[in-house]
Amino acid sequence: MVTKTDILIAGAGAAGLTAGIALAQAGFEVAVRGEPDTRRNGRTVALFEASLRLYRSLGLWDRLAALAQPMETIQIIDDTGSFLPTPPLDLHADEIGLKAFGANIENAVLVGALAQIARQTPGLSLKDGMLGDYGFEAGLARARNSDGEEIEAQLIIGADGRNSPLRAAAGIAHRDWAYPQTAITALLVHSRPHWAASTEFHTRQGPCTLVPLPAQGGNRHRSSLVWLMSPEDAARRMALGDPELAAEIETQVHRLHGKISLEGPRGAFPIAGLTCETLIAPRAALVADAAHYFPPIGAQGLNLGLRDVAQLADTLDKYGRVDAGDEAALRAYDRARRFDVGTRSLGIDILNRSLLWNFLPADAARGAGILAMAAIGPLRRALLREGIAPPGRLPPLMRAQAAAP
Ligand SMILES: Cc1cc2nc3c(=O)[nH]c(=O)nc-3n(C[C@H](O)[C@H](O)[C@H](O)COP(=O)(O)OP(=O)(O)OC[C@H]3O[C@@H](n4cnc5c(N)ncnc54)[C@H](O)[C@@H]3O)c2cc1C
Repeated sequence: MVTKTDILIAGAGAAGLTAGIALAQAGFEVAVRGEPDTRRNGRTVALFEASLRLYRSLGLWDRLAALAQPMETIQIIDDTGSFLPTPPLDLHADEIGLKAFGANIENAVLVGALAQIARQTPGLSLKDGMLGDYGFEAGLARARNSDGEEIEAQLIIGADGRNSPLRAAAGIAHRDWAYPQTAITALLVHSRPHWAASTEFHTRQGPCTLVPLPAQGGNRHRSSLVWLMSPEDAARRMALGDPELAAEIETQVHRLHGKISLEGPRGAFPIAGLTCETLIAPRAALVADAAHYFPPIGAQGLNLGLRDVAQLADTLDKYGRVDAGDEAALRAYDRARRFDVGTRSLGIDILNRSLLWNFLPADAARGAGILAMAAIGPLRRALLREGIAPPGRLPPLMRAQAAAP
């Protein structure tokens, strides 16, 4: 028997599940196929205000908020040892009229909660399995799930991550590259409070960031760690025991949070970049990591991916009612996402390379940017809004009112 649906989504990560829920709520018949990955690996996602608005618009935020920690302050500390050191930069959410910049949540917890919500969403069928045997014809797209299920849809959305098999099957050209870095992730318990602040130490091997987490069980002070370093250092540190790694983290973060211990397993992620020539092909569209990938700096990855999701849901709601795979609708989606995806990917690439590049003019340019942000209030507020909830061009699902400070 063949399953027929309006929209098939490949991938049950945070992006695929959110897209499934948004499109089903908009009245489309949606099938999501993939395996929600709820294994803990020390990885969290800091979701900024625009992403929280999406979850508020979908009526999900009350459920997710209980699992997340608000971030009220962002601190950037120059730890490069450059000849031109810049003073620490403290950014506060109330400067841009917000109570918090966003909230930090464990990735596995977010995916688990979204999968549970997806299973209760009318019009949405979520099943385990990996899709393959894609076919794209006039008027129809097909795929086969690894359990043998044949599926026909008007549109297939690729939310199938950085190595996206859908992207390859649809013939969407991409360019990818590697950076000489690996990110170690871990959940930390510490002796001093984090004061709802995310602290980014900019080192020569990349940023080392502590992001606040909510209290859990008897542990009152918790944070997540994203520490970029050379692959050799990462291999050595991944081989350390928990107390030895905790001691190296304490040194790296200048004992900011006092005594540290590790909670649960850690993760190691090779750092890479990827851009696509387009986000669409006949009867196919890409969102999130399938469409763009860059280093975890400034917590932009999933936030950008959720803007894809919100835009695609809005565009299909407006122009895809008769045929969700309508060519003009897909073109409108691609056009709407081009600038945000292009500028964000380029900005993160430049910032990451400027840290790796031990070259005075690069330090001077980065330092001048940080000094200008510290000294010029209107510039700082404009850049903050750009990073947290880009004004003017957000899709309607992300335009809901923010929580007042
Ligand atoms: C160390 C680190 C820290 C980060 N921190 C942040 C942060 O603070 N804030 C932020 O916004 N972003 C952050 N990011 C980025 C963010 O985690 C990703 O952008 C986000 O998880 C991508 O979600 P996704 O659903 O697109 O992809 P994935 O999470 O990769 O999910 C894709 C899913 O598709 C499945 N799949 C693959 N092929 C198929 C198939 N053929 N059929 C069915 N399913 C398939 C995979 O199994 C997977 O489950 C971070 C990333 C890293 C590495």
